[in-house]
Amino acid sequence: MENSSKIAVLGAGMVGTCCALYLQREGYAVTLVDRGGAGEEASFGNLGGFGIASCPPAAMPGVIKKVPGMLFDADAPLKIRWGHAARALPWFIRFIANSRIERVEANAAARQSLLDKVHEGIDPLIADANAGHFMSQTGLMFTFESEAAFQGSAYAFDLRRRNGVQLDLLDGNEARQVQPALSKNVVRAYRVANFSHTVDPMRLVKALATLFEQRGGTMLRRTVTGFDIGSDGVRALRTTDGDVAIEKLVVAAGVWSRQFAKMLGSDVPLEAERGYHTMFNGADVKMNGAIISVDRHVAITPMNEGIRVGGVAEFAAPEAAPNFAVAKLVRRHGEALLPDLKSERITEWMGPRPSHPDSKPVIGRSPRHGNAYFAFGHDHLGLTMGGITGKLVSELVTDRPTSVDLSPFRPDRF
Ligand SMILES: Cc1cc2nc3c(=O)[nH]c(=O)nc-3n(C[C@H](O)[C@H](O)[C@H](O)COP(=O)(O)OP(=O)(O)OC[C@H]3O[C@@H](n4cnc5c(N)ncnc54)[C@H](O)[C@@H]3O)c2cc1C
Repeated sequence: MENSSKIAVLGAGMVGTCCALYLQREGYAVTLVDRGGAGEEASFGNLGGFGIASCPPAAMPGVIKKVPGMLFDADAPLKIRWGHAARALPWFIRFIANSRIERVEANAAARQSLLDKVHEGIDPLIADANAGHFMSQTGLMFTFESEAAFQGSAYAFDLRRRNGVQLDLLDGNEARQVQPALSKNVVRAYRVANFSHTVDPMRLVKALATLFEQRGGTMLRRTVTGFDIGSDGVRALRTTDGDVAIEKLVVAAGVWSRQFAKMLGSDVPLEAERGYHTMFNGADVKMNGAIISVDRHVAITPMNEGIRVGGVAEFAAPEAAPNFAVAKLVRRHGEALLPDLKSERITEWMGPRPSHPDSKPVIGRSPRHGNAYFAFGHDHLGLTMGGITGKLVSELVTDRPTSVDLSPFRPDRF
């Protein structure tokens, strides 16, 4: 199908790259604009999981009692830079409001409506890009090192079950039969057999971007500073190297989307929830699938280049210098969970998850400008939800009924 309309996608992370590919499939002349290379920001260093079992939102019942203590505990999974506290306060007030049980249930159901379509969204793109070698379907295990942690997460796992997630309950020995390297301290586990992960998140995005270019798409390396907006909507991107005329726009710039949404008249509470990873390059511990430690709030994934351990939510400006003491905390958790985990070459990374207080992305048309669309705020699930988000954006742009009800993801819901 040919479509002469010029559409720009701002941001070549996982989300923007998938949007660009789906719009290209509709016949649009698409330009994918990024100040850097594809997949080099938040999409670079994630844990690679296609998180189909992650419908529970971050704000869960009882979180209000846990947050204050966590902020003063150096080993806690939640951190805030004090210089950023005043800016983040309105976000936290909304976050706490989202921990009410009826909001939790609704937020989980909305997340699940996207999670149900993860493979419908991403698999065709991976197949077209011949990128199947970046994928592994070896399952996921949630581990618990105490009965208290197991009992304490009963509601979260019930929520998963009620949203259709298939979970097998294992005792510690059964867990070690699947993952022999696992610490003896693990007493319980849930396994999700049909879970897949990528063994190289950044190269997966680059493979998708290569497909986009091979199919005639334009990659433009520019820093976008704003828009030329007329009575008919957005007319051009303003960039540090001049204007780029466009007919339609998709904002998919991860955590940096907040400023662009604001320029388009939408005030969204998007914050950088910065996560860290430690990469054990060349580690030869055998892992059968990914692990999420519920007690330690870290995930561990076997990747092409070694074993990656990551986690932590640090609220700070996206550009603030990383605090790699956090990556060392994450590392200690990994070593405790897999006692034989070692590497001669450790590397560390920080990346900003784009997070809304209700743990749902914004996917929709700009309320103010009919030719602009938003696709951002996928917090812990941007890799997972990128493909289906791209598909939904293409349905919106072509004025077709969307395959998921997008009302929970409206930009003006806040
Ligand atoms: C430790 C950690 C572990 C994670 N694990 C998982 C996981 O297992 N599974 C999962 O699904 N998700 C995971 N995530 C979350 C996931 O990484 C993010 O949700 C996802 O990468 C967001 O993708 P994005 O395309 O929205 O943003 P990004 O990848 O950040 O892309 C935004 C792009 O916009 C560009 N941009 C910004 N401003 C401008 C500008 N002015 N001009 C031009 N370009 C601009 C940037 O250069 C960037 O390339 C994890 C995150 C972290 C930190």
